[in-house]
Amino acid sequence: VQRNRGESEFHQAVREVLESVGPVLVKHPEYAEQKVIERICEPERFIVFRVPWEDDRGEVHINRGFRVEFNSALGPYKGGLRFHPSVYQGIVKFLGFEQIFKNALTGLPIGGGKGGADFDPKGRSDREIMRFCQSFMTELYRHVGEHTDVPAGDIGVGGREIGYLFGQYKRITNRYESGVLTGKHLSLGGARVRTEATGYGCAYFVDEMLAARGESFEGKQVVVSGSGNVAIYSIEKVHQLGGTVVACSDSSGYVYDENGIDLDLLKQVKEVERERIGVYADRRGGAKYVQDGSVWDVPCQVAMPSATQNELTGDDAATLIRNGCTAVGEGANMPATPQAIRAFLDAEVAFGPGKAANAGGVATSALEMQQNASRDSWSFEFTEQRLEAIMKDVHARCFATAEEYGMPGNYVAGANIAGFTAVADAMLRLGLV
Ligand code: NDP
Repeated sequence: VQRNRGESEFHQAVREVLESVGPVLVKHPEYAEQKVIERICEPERFIVFRVPWEDDRGEVHINRGFRVEFNSALGPYKGGLRFHPSVYQGIVKFLGFEQIFKNALTGLPIGGGKGGADFDPKGRSDREIMRFCQSFMTELYRHVGEHTDVPAGDIGVGGREIGYLFGQYKRITNRYESGVLTGKHLSLGGARVRTEATGYGCAYFVDEMLAARGESFEGKQVVVSGSGNVAIYSIEKVHQLGGTVVACSDSSGYVYDENGIDLDLLKQVKEVERERIGVYADRRGGAKYVQDGSVWDVPCQVAMPSATQNELTGDDAATLIRNGCTAVGEGANMPATPQAIRAFLDAEVAFGPGKAANAGGVATSALEMQQNASRDSWSFEFTEQRLEAIMKDVHARCFATAEEYGMPGNYVAGANIAGFTAVADAMLRLGLV
């Protein structure tokens, strides 16, 4: 705590993992002897840099850029970039720490990293976004590479930003190194299904949790928070699997649509026009926009928090449970507070933690790296089959590990233990490095 002063989100993420791995240390005394816990909590490298840029009026702005290269025991550092005013060292480190175990759970050869900047893209013109991305990459390029560190998107960073970042990398290095970033447009070496992957993957994971209880999405009302990349494609897959998403949100409020969210309209408002969520309700008969209040007040059987960290509190969890919610899949990273997780586990709600439930995004990024390395491009159908198989596998691994350690149905323990042991074993094999 002393060494990482003031980094509350990082403390929260570490505490959650360490609370789960007690029984592992009993079974594997070599982890404690070799100080694996201390090593795993210390990033291999943490980079902080200045990002100067000029807005459309010629005014100069200075932002702070970050990249944490947390753990490369299993492969090159891999994890997204977040552009949001709330970004600071504690957020980057919590995300990077989670990423280590998530990436291990996919079974693919990727280490853990994360980065971003305290830049607010809201209201910025396309040119301003481009200049910011170019300045950001002018420093970042020296730290990344297809065998070193492979960033992707996260909050505020989508296909457009990845394109500008890749353009600048290519210009500085004079290398068409597609594998240096994932989440690229198809024409730049991107992979099919990457855009959809996190949301689709989360829906698959919840579907597996429901199936393990003899249930399915069929006929269920679902609430998804957020209306960004993860939320939109969670909604799409939930609808394909027979559920009905009746509410979604952004930081300005939420919309309730009892007939089910109209996905074409949502994509138009959010992906094309980059508008606020209230505009959806303005254009959709029967839909209601609620500015003050929590999206978790909307009754549902399944909840999929897909916006940001700590957006679902203990009180929200109590409301959801009271309203009959029996399954929760975290599309976002750490959206449920520790109190909320405790309440869900106590009420025997099937709770899929982010490092398992949202692993489909990074898994498909690893598939993009495979395609780039072999200069290949797979079909949508084939890639989606791979994603589905990976998510079933992640679910099975968490489920089996929870059983093995005497905590059946506890996916938090299952994910933390399975992810931790995979990384810890690789670290021991690499020696004291
Ligand atoms: P986007 O930027 O596409 O969307 C984020 C959504 O969450 C927006 O609707 C945004 O609303 C809302 N949101 C963000 N911050 C807040 C806040 N402080 N309060 C309320 N709402 C907020 O990001 P993604 O969909 O890519 O990411 C969402 C979550 O999923 C994050 O936790 C991310 O780390 C996680 N994730 C993403 C992956 C991916 O592949 N994209 C992979 C794995 C995890 P507004 O526009 O009003 O800010």
